[in-house]
Amino acid sequence: MFWTGELIARNAPVRRRVAPAPWEEPHIGKGVAAYLGLAIGDALGATVEFLTPNEIRHQHGVHREITGGGWLRLKAGKVTDDTTMSLALGESILASGGVDAKAAADAFNAWMRAKPVDIGNTVRRNLITYRQTGNPEAPASEHDAGNGAAMRTLPVALACYGQPPEKTILASRAQAHVTHHNEISDAACETLIFMVQDFLAGRDAAEVKRERADELVRRHPIFAYEKKRSENPSGYVVDTIHAVFQSLFDTNSFEDCMIDVVNRGGDADTTGAIVGMLAGARYGLEAIPKRWQKALEAATLAACEQQAMALLELARR
Ligand code: MG
Ligand code: MG
Repeated sequence: MFWTGELIARNAPVRRRVAPAPWEEPHIGKGVAAYLGLAIGDALGATVEFLTPNEIRHQHGVHREITGGGWLRLKAGKVTDDTTMSLALGESILASGGVDAKAAADAFNAWMRAKPVDIGNTVRRNLITYRQTGNPEAPASEHDAGNGAAMRTLPVALACYGQPPEKTILASRAQAHVTHHNEISDAACETLIFMVQDFLAGRDAAEVKRERADELVRRHPIFAYEKKRSENPSGYVVDTIHAVFQSLFDTNSFEDCMIDVVNRGGDADTTGAIVGMLAGARYGLEAIPKRWQKALEAATLAACEQQAMALLELARR
């Protein structure tokens, strides 16, 4: 004797399961939004990189459109190292089926050979050392606490989605230590990765703030971000995190968050990229202004979308 439910199930016509479109799975849509947010923040912020908030006010009023220019004289919609290093890392993860330090170092090395529009000093120095030694782990240095590893954490967050935290931490350090072997940088990278994953899983901002951002401050008080307003943040990862967390938690939409962070000036392409990935994951695709999606170079937009989906597919396997 079958239970009714079982009987119904047995006699039901065999319905082919239609796989949901990628966008219909919330975490995939949010993963794509995180990648677009990263690229949009980079492109938006590059215009005002290294300006002070005052200089931005004089030159732009409130900077809110992707117009290119800036010290790199970018074409509108072009991105910088923050996005292109992330894409290079993501490619290496997909090619090797996981996060691998040597594969990441080779990918960054090839990226540097292709003459990127910009490159950080620590990245350049440690990639040159890698060419000489073949060791994909840079020597530990208390000085290498720039934001260069934190700006490219997204592929790790996506590839490790749903994996145990210990494994995620190892993956984060494998990619980060190619250029930034530093405890403060590590703490920032790992926190950012867990925040992205939390938002993908649908956790709310108050929870993420308490359990990730405030927990980072508890372990490393130098990251205390609620003391004074961060303006003109430098490339020091602590300054970056102050600006990013203030903008993320003091605004209520993707657009407001991005405008808030880039108008603080300083390393604005990188604060824009990092908060863009967090805000994209938090608010999802529908929240990203269409005008910014259209302004982004089409090839970059497509690469970010495809890579986000491929990395989440890898994480599922
Ligand atoms: Mg940059
Ligand atoms: Mg920058």
